[in-house]
Amino acid sequence: MAGHPLNLDRRGWLKAGVAAGTAAVMAGVAVAPNDAQAASLSQAQRDAMTPDQVIDMMKRGNARFRAGKPQKHDYLAQKRSSALGQYPAAVILSCIDSRAPAEIILDTGIGETFNGRIAGNISNNDLLGSMEFACAAAGAKVILVMGHTACGAVAGAIDNVQLGHLTGLLDVIKPAVEATKYTGDRSGKNAQFVDAVARTNVQLTVEAIRKNSPILAGLEKEGKIKIVGSMYDLTNGMLTFMA
Ligand SMILES: [Zn+2]
Repeated sequence: MAGHPLNLDRRGWLKAGVAAGTAAVMAGVAVAPNDAQAASLSQAQRDAMTPDQVIDMMKRGNARFRAGKPQKHDYLAQKRSSALGQYPAAVILSCIDSRAPAEIILDTGIGETFNGRIAGNISNNDLLGSMEFACAAAGAKVILVMGHTACGAVAGAIDNVQLGHLTGLLDVIKPAVEATKYTGDRSGKNAQFVDAVARTNVQLTVEAIRKNSPILAGLEKEGKIKIVGSMYDLTNGMLTFMA
């Protein structure tokens, strides 16, 4: 990031004192990150980033999480600085699983990511609308689809679980079961197969977003956003990006 007016290294997600930082960014001068953890992303900071820089920050946030060295979040200061406006850098589509909270895994704060959570991290029209809002209206640069290991929804789709409204949701995951090449035990009891299907499910969700949302596909073609898949490993805390 040499030569970039913003200090991207001091912390993963750009931070600076709100007024001073924003003014410094607008003026194109280096931000002195004394107040590094105090504020949420400003519009100038978010708008200055490319989709690849946002992805890079996510990777560094996950590295801090894995190292047990997350940032010292001042949530009250983040709340104050984002109350009048939000400029999140990304929208994350992840599973409801209690062990896969995106903000913690990526070490982000209040006002920095939109989050859509649904069992099996699938896409549907309402989620597409949410992601279109996040990117086309609110300026997010990345759509991150996050699957995870040992996903109960994926195992349920494999085993054809029937339960109220869950049945229809699992139907959306089923194409991933069929599309996963795997020789051996193709049941929900086989953790390796479940994870392989979860990976396929992420890929199919990314494809479905592009196919079913001309708005998002168009933004990606223009280079304004990136749509990427990822898999979170519950065991080692690693988030592996697929692109
Ligand atoms: Zn899950």
